[in-house]
Amino acid sequence: MPFQTINILGVPVASVTMTDAVEQVEKYIDERANVQIATANAEMIMNAQRDERLMGILRKAALVTPDGAGTVWAAHHLGCEMPERVAGYDLVQELLKRAPKKNHRVYFFGSAPGVADKAKAEAERRYPGINIVGTRNGFFTKVDEPAIIEDIRKSEPDILLAALGVPKQEKWIDSHLPELGVPVAIGVGGTLDVMAGVMKRAPLWMQRAKLEWLFRGMMQPKRAGRLMALPKFVIKVMHQK
Ligand code: UDP
Repeated sequence: MPFQTINILGVPVASVTMTDAVEQVEKYIDERANVQIATANAEMIMNAQRDERLMGILRKAALVTPDGAGTVWAAHHLGCEMPERVAGYDLVQELLKRAPKKNHRVYFFGSAPGVADKAKAEAERRYPGINIVGTRNGFFTKVDEPAIIEDIRKSEPDILLAALGVPKQEKWIDSHLPELGVPVAIGVGGTLDVMAGVMKRAPLWMQRAKLEWLFRGMMQPKRAGRLMALPKFVIKVMHQK
């Protein structure tokens, strides 16, 4: 990775601004690099503590951005200059915004049936001229996989967005990256849900108050248990130091 990284509980997170991250992704596209990019929040880093495969994937990813207030806090706590948060949703919007001019082709893979198509319509409304070359929902079995891979291959996207949730999206990308042949694949969690309007993102004031995690916990009570990852993360990072 061409940036300084900080080791947060084993995960090498790049010290990057949004601009750095966008430019680096575009560089990988120009190089037809065939790489995975991840956006790491505290929950993902905690998942990686007990999921060796996920940890391995994050350690070899071409770029891991600091998604979430927890990750930025940890970097600062460990003495690294971390200029800002580079959240998956925001990174995707920047890339989509620049895609028409750059002639970048994008594929939306994941989320519930119908959602990726809605997200595509929304992308076309927001970013006139954008070329979303394919969509596929994220609910499938092993027998469907060859057809999914074939569809992505023949659509020839420059950017593959995989919205299957953590760690499924990271593992799926890792397993299929060479045969997919895409320059860049990014795991984007709930991004398509938010674009399609089926899920809300935290209001800006909450994002600025570093409370997006709380908002997500409130909106999806199923996730409330997952909120415990954050205090555990803080304690572990304090020990790392
Ligand atoms: N999802 C999917 N296939 C699955 C499980 C989940 O496509 O087998 C989708 C789900 O519909 C949602 C996204 O993955 O759009 C997960 O979003 P979430 O915000 O939970 O992501 P995380 O925070 O886990 O990255």
